[in-house]
Amino acid sequence: MTLTALELEDMLETTRRFVTKRLVPLEQEIDDQAEVDPDVWRSLIAESVELGLYSANVPEHLGGPGLSIYEQTRLWEEFGATTWPLTYVLARPHRILFECTEMQREKYLDPVLSGEREQCFALTEPGSGSDNGAMRTRATKVPGGYRITGSKHFITFGSADFAIVFAVTGPPAEGRRTPQVTAFLVDKGTPGYVIGGRQRMMGWHALDERELFFEDCFVPDEQVLGEPGQGLRLALASVAQRRLQMAGYAVGAMERLVSLSTEFAKLRVVFDEPIAQKQGIRWMLADMAVEPYVARAAVYDATRLCDEGRAAGLSDRELATTFGKQISIAKLYATTALNRVADQAVQIHGGMGFSREYPVERLYRDARGLRIVEGTDEVHREIISKHLV
Ligand SMILES: Cc1cc2nc3c(=O)[nH]c(=O)nc-3n(C[C@H](O)[C@H](O)[C@H](O)COP(=O)(O)OP(=O)(O)OC[C@H]3O[C@@H](n4cnc5c(N)ncnc54)[C@H](O)[C@@H]3O)c2cc1C
Repeated sequence: MTLTALELEDMLETTRRFVTKRLVPLEQEIDDQAEVDPDVWRSLIAESVELGLYSANVPEHLGGPGLSIYEQTRLWEEFGATTWPLTYVLARPHRILFECTEMQREKYLDPVLSGEREQCFALTEPGSGSDNGAMRTRATKVPGGYRITGSKHFITFGSADFAIVFAVTGPPAEGRRTPQVTAFLVDKGTPGYVIGGRQRMMGWHALDERELFFEDCFVPDEQVLGEPGQGLRLALASVAQRRLQMAGYAVGAMERLVSLSTEFAKLRVVFDEPIAQKQGIRWMLADMAVEPYVARAAVYDATRLCDEGRAAGLSDRELATTFGKQISIAKLYATTALNRVADQAVQIHGGMGFSREYPVERLYRDARGLRIVEGTDEVHREIISKHLV
């Protein structure tokens, strides 16, 4: 289903209200306290479910709104008006859960859609991040299931109700470099599944980042997600949407920084006049305004290609490979531009920009993480250059 222009405008307006009235007022407190109060979090999820935002990425046949990638990206742009950790109430079910069997759907996907259960996505390990194929966590076949041994780190929402865990289940297939990897659904409380301590980050303080340990942890066959050996291919299926969502968010975040900096420059008087009167500052504002405009064009173009690809019958994994160059350009450009804009915003705010009293300090720290997750800058340059040569 594609929304009419009016329906999309309505949905964007609802999203804008939710972001500005409910999320933005929480930003400072959750960053200072490095957590969101669990009751507040539950109520935000309930509101997001009610507004249709929580499962905004879910197709109609699984109970979602079936939005196009472009429409989803527009929602992410609206969420750019708030801090990254609070975006976890938008489009929350991980794409890989769409592979659930009927039985798994009842226990995992449906409770995530309704906000009753939290999930986490556990792929990265201390020794394998960009190169997932180097993962060491292993799942050995035993009667009735698998035994998982290994560890993961930097897992967002690591203490969630269940984890989607990736583990090596076999050597590389003929002619392949990466081993066979299988995805598993592992419930919190399963013997041998240990949730480690918090890992503190430069920004996104409110996010629950954890190490996870698997010590001979038994997982029954019915908790294999998708086909055995297809874990990395399934993970790839989410790449197109996740990267474009993040790029859309970056566009919105840049608009916020331009607006905060413009307002500040009009009010801040230095050497007898507002700094907005000074050409050095005005040109900085102009350079900042160029970035979201250009990034938006790249992001919308990539979303258009993906939507056309979908309409032509391409699977999500095929979208990620066919339009990998454009998706990577959009993600790389939007997130690096956001970092440039955040740096200029701090500069325009002077000492106030470095002070925790003003939001630009936090937005500057927030921006940095976006160049690392969902593919680092260098990974995207690799993808773009592979398409070229
Ligand atoms: C806040 C936060 C939340 C996260 N949440 C999750 C989560 O929920 N689940 C999850 O599974 N993971 C998560 N991650 C992990 C994240 O996906 C990885 O950090 C990311 O993929 C990079 O991997 P790495 O940290 O191991 O860096 P590395 O892969 O070790 O990279 C180190 C450096 O080498 C560069 N590099 C890598 N490959 C190349 C290349 N081919 N050419 C040139 N340079 C290269 C990188 O760009 C980087 O500069 C999270 C990370 C952070 C910081």
